[in-house]
Amino acid sequence: MRWEELTSDDFPQAVAASQGVCLLPLSVVERHAHHLPMATDTYIARDLCRRAAEIEPALIFPDFIFTQILEAQHCAGTIALDPDLILSLLDNVCREIARNGLRKIVLVNAHGGNHGLIGLFLQKQLASPRDYVVYVTYPPVIAADDPAEVGDWSAGDHAGAQETAAVMAIRPDLVHFDRVRADGEGDARGRLKALTDLGTTTGIWWYADHPTHYAGDASPATAEKGERWLAARGKALARAIRAIKADDETLRLQQAFFAAAQH
Ligand SMILES: [Zn+2]
Repeated sequence: MRWEELTSDDFPQAVAASQGVCLLPLSVVERHAHHLPMATDTYIARDLCRRAAEIEPALIFPDFIFTQILEAQHCAGTIALDPDLILSLLDNVCREIARNGLRKIVLVNAHGGNHGLIGLFLQKQLASPRDYVVYVTYPPVIAADDPAEVGDWSAGDHAGAQETAAVMAIRPDLVHFDRVRADGEGDARGRLKALTDLGTTTGIWWYADHPTHYAGDASPATAEKGERWLAARGKALARAIRAIKADDETLRLQQAFFAAAQH
């Protein structure tokens, strides 16, 4: 069930059918090497939510593309917003989702550059009392989801094999596979290696390693691998939604915490 496709009259029924669970797909518009569309993360987040909600009913919020991507400002077409604005926009959107009766909000993030932002956003949930819970989930794929392929691909790539395969499965018309570089462009440049070897980093780390926003190697990608990867991750996400539906303990603890914090 996609939020924007429902009539207002049908909305309350959809809230009931989803047991108050709303998936909030987080992505960003940024460069994905030479060969993928800038909305790669958007297509992937949308597709995972759709697959999961088909297994375990949940309402899907419209694509939330306004997230953290300051490190791609030098690339044409990037939409990089002020982090303070992103945090307050996301908070305001969550409050509106809750006001509409969906008190379990699940952040489904497809953009690697959001991990710091999401960590802070989760902690900000403790800044003031609220009658809803924000969850973030990166559910592990298990053997039952896809016995053939589990754990086969490396995480942390950007426009690498995983993302390329996924977009080949979702929107093959947007993949320019003939532009995939096989010259090591996706390898980390290591320009700040003297620091990173000593566990020391800065905000410029991604630009230092991946100035063309390509990490990994896209060449092994195929649409069939992408379909399997998305299907397996969709099942894993459905499993997490099921657990979230069954969870009453988080809100109870949250309320107990705020009651204790006010005395
Ligand atoms: Zn991406």
